[in-house]
Amino acid sequence: MTRVTFSTAVLTWAAEHGRKDLPWQKNISPYRVWVSEIMLQQTQVNTVLGYFERFMQRFPDLPSLAAGELDEVLHLWTGLGYYSRARNLHKTAQLLISEYGGEFPRSIEGLAGLPGIGRSTAGAIASISMGLRAPILDGNVKRVLARYSALREYPGTSAATRQLWKLAEQLTPPAELAAAYTQAMMDLGATLCTRSKPDCDSCPLKTGCQARLLGLQDQLPVPRPKKVLPEQHTCMLLLENPEGKVLLQQRPAQGLWGGLYSLPELDNINQLPQLLHSLQLTESGRRRLPPLSHTFSHFRLHIHPWLVQAQVTGVAEVTTIPQVWYNREHPPTIGLAAPVKKLLRSQAQPRSI
Ligand code: SF4
Repeated sequence: MTRVTFSTAVLTWAAEHGRKDLPWQKNISPYRVWVSEIMLQQTQVNTVLGYFERFMQRFPDLPSLAAGELDEVLHLWTGLGYYSRARNLHKTAQLLISEYGGEFPRSIEGLAGLPGIGRSTAGAIASISMGLRAPILDGNVKRVLARYSALREYPGTSAATRQLWKLAEQLTPPAELAAAYTQAMMDLGATLCTRSKPDCDSCPLKTGCQARLLGLQDQLPVPRPKKVLPEQHTCMLLLENPEGKVLLQQRPAQGLWGGLYSLPELDNINQLPQLLHSLQLTESGRRRLPPLSHTFSHFRLHIHPWLVQAQVTGVAEVTTIPQVWYNREHPPTIGLAAPVKKLLRSQAQPRSI
């Protein structure tokens, strides 16, 4: 298919079948498109809907986000994962206010130079909210183009990515159609050319799609080569005071769960007395809780939680780590790592040990 027949087919299909009521499709602005695109990077639309609405209620525009506390941004992000996205949103908002006069740059290069904005997100912001001719290559579009061109290698390699960007560039129509086309490609990938069971019979690209013509649509894109994830173990402590509050400590800004509040950790439960001593706590009982696991992109973490009833007996050693006694009935506005939230919820009703 040529650029014209390809884009016309996609646009004609989207006019009838495309998604039209997603919250970020209303009151379109660079800010709203940016926030939605960042949320959608690693997360399904259905999950993002609630997060987006809550985020927009609290931070309706760039100045409000820039002026907000990072803790609150992380709090609204709790459960979405990949927290560097939230930290970069906050950082970029502040940068745009302080260095760019509160406006988004009106070019792909300018947008892609901002923290957390890659080439595809820049393309989505530029095309959808600014009407610029800008290709995108998010996960959905990558899948469509990998199938359309019957790409025989994993699309995550740099050579394959270059090839797909070239194709995306070739197929993107002129600026006046760019916004509708970007949205249409996203819709097609999300609703028709789905990861499993693509609905090729209903697809506007079926006559030109090489994967379909070769009967390979179920085998493409080539999956990521499997790698064995390293395993790590940690002992997490729910130190609960007599009021049922649980001690949380803030993690360093950089690294895993950066800036989020988490439970104190030990390599081994035998180290508990030293920790309690440094916190000036005494233990009145403990109970092992069911273990849980959490998979990160680069390792798998096995968490061995313990509920420890503890009482403050003195002034804890001076520490620079911010900490809070977390009230589960009136939770403070802080960001929590997903497994920590799960553990706090699972122990929401204080029980005797
Ligand atoms: S024909 Fe099938 S595999 Fe090809 S783009 Fe359409 S839905 Fe995807």
